Amino acid sequence: PDTIDRAARILREGCLVAFPTETVYGLGADAASDAAIAKLYALKSRPHFNPLIVHVLSGAEAERIALVGALAASLIREFWPGPLTLVLPRPRTSPISLLASAGLDTVAVRSPAHPVARALLEAFGGPLVAPSANRSGHVSPTRPAHVEFDFGPAAPLILDGGPTQLGLESTVLDLTGEVAAILRPGALPRARLEDFLGPLLAPLNVSSVHGSNAALKSPGMLASHYAPRLPLRLNAASAEPGEALLAFGPNMPEGAIRTLNLSPRGDLAEAAANLFTHLRSLDAPPASAIAVMPIPVEGLGEAINDRLQRAARPRDTAR
Ligand code: AMP
Ligand code: MG
Repeated sequence: PDTIDRAARILREGCLVAFPTETVYGLGADAASDAAIAKLYALKSRPHFNPLIVHVLSGAEAERIALVGALAASLIREFWPGPLTLVLPRPRTSPISLLASAGLDTVAVRSPAHPVARALLEAFGGPLVAPSANRSGHVSPTRPAHVEFDFGPAAPLILDGGPTQLGLESTVLDLTGEVAAILRPGALPRARLEDFLGPLLAPLNVSSVHGSNAALKSPGMLASHYAPRLPLRLNAASAEPGEALLAFGPNMPEGAIRTLNLSPRGDLAEAAANLFTHLRSLDAPPASAIAVMPIPVEGLGEAINDRLQRAARPRDTAR
């Protein structure tokens, strides 16, 4: 409790704190403070057109910052707290800094389930913006050491909650258009949403996002993202000379410089939890590239494949 209080004090002073959520580690800042959010964008080197997710304790708190319609309210009752972010219309009276919306007339809101995240929100006493606690464009952090690695001596206070449980970012659902649409596949599988809402539009395709209207709708969905330094080769049956191997399932081809298996028993939840840690571990010399075995596109596999495709995109499209 003392550390949580100290963290809340740091946030109230307009500074940053990294904290665990059930998805990945977040970099928290006072969602009402322009100065704190400017610091956050600077530390991450995040492009200013990429808006932030506002974290709240409850649906009632969401109603104070966004327009929560009937559909949003029912999704909140069903899936909060949890890895579902809702993009909602932003009323002119919203107390959230305009920087968090990056010029859009919408605001993205989520209620995290992790007890440390909730204790911090409670102690702080208001909404926090919390993008993933990594340098912009890099692999998201699922352990405190990843946050330290990305920011070095500039790292803020990091609340250590151990490895995160889900390991993938939240699913982002847009409720501001004519139909609900997934802007980013994530830790809440599409099927769970479709059981509740009926069939949803296909998510944005990685290759079609760049320069399209879709990119304007979800400015964070850049083609190259979540990227390690080494190039990635997807759908590999085995490793070529010099490659490290990110394996999946019981069959492990030999010959890689180093092999890590996302889930030897082929379990997608286990693979999601290991994805970013294994990518970071394999992203080191003397390997010249990371070969990735195929991962089924069902359930959490949709979000896992989305992150891998972005990580594999040529870096000249990276921002
Ligand atoms: P991060 O917190 O770094 O995992 O990224 C947050 C994601 O939510 C990015 O893909 C953003 O583009 C998306 N996002 C945040 N706010 C909005 C918004 N108002 N409208 C659409 N997408 C948003
Ligand atoms: Mg991120």
